[in-house]
Amino acid sequence: MIQALCVFCGSNSGHNPVYKRTAERLGELLAKRDISLIYGGGKVGLMGVLADSCLAQGGRVVGVIPQILVDKEVAHAGLTQLHVVSSMHQRKALMADLADAFLALPGGFGTWEEFFEVLTWSQLELQRKACALLNVEGYYDPLLALADRAVRDGFLRSANRRLLVADTDLERILQRISESQAPPTDEGPYRNPRY
Ligand code: AMP
Repeated sequence: MIQALCVFCGSNSGHNPVYKRTAERLGELLAKRDISLIYGGGKVGLMGVLADSCLAQGGRVVGVIPQILVDKEVAHAGLTQLHVVSSMHQRKALMADLADAFLALPGGFGTWEEFFEVLTWSQLELQRKACALLNVEGYYDPLLALADRAVRDGFLRSANRRLLVADTDLERILQRISESQAPPTDEGPYRNPRY
């Protein structure tokens, strides 16, 4: 069972209303399951929808935003906790330290960059936290096809391809994230030497 999930998602909401609905549903589920939401701290796009829905259901929401984005992404003023950090790198490092696992919803460059960074930390065995993609409306089909091609063409080991957990169903992906969590160790919180 995870206690805190880091969610990466778009600073836009997407055209199809299904994206917003999915972010809302995820926020509700996290609140109901008492899983803290760790996210980028903004009020815009799917990020804002997700945070608002989790808060509305009484959930715990922790945002991590760099000072340079406080105005651009309109830092959310109603969060349980908001960390304002000094760089994008600090943002990712703190989000990762606060979370037990990662889930990406649809998004753009920022979402992909954040997701692939944590996935590569898993590949390098700098962490043992699950990295999952919610494939809403087949949005990530081309990316998953690229990962398969990378295996076929010899750029990605099959074992590392399996680190990328993907599913089309929200409840199922939360279940798979819980199941793929490494058992807790006696070492205390695992902080990796990334930065
Ligand atoms: P996007 O998916 O492009 O809408 O961006 C989603 C989130 O990723 C936003 O909060 C961006 O600020 C964030 N983001 C964009 N680029 C980076 C980066 N290089 N490192 C960390 N976060 C980023």
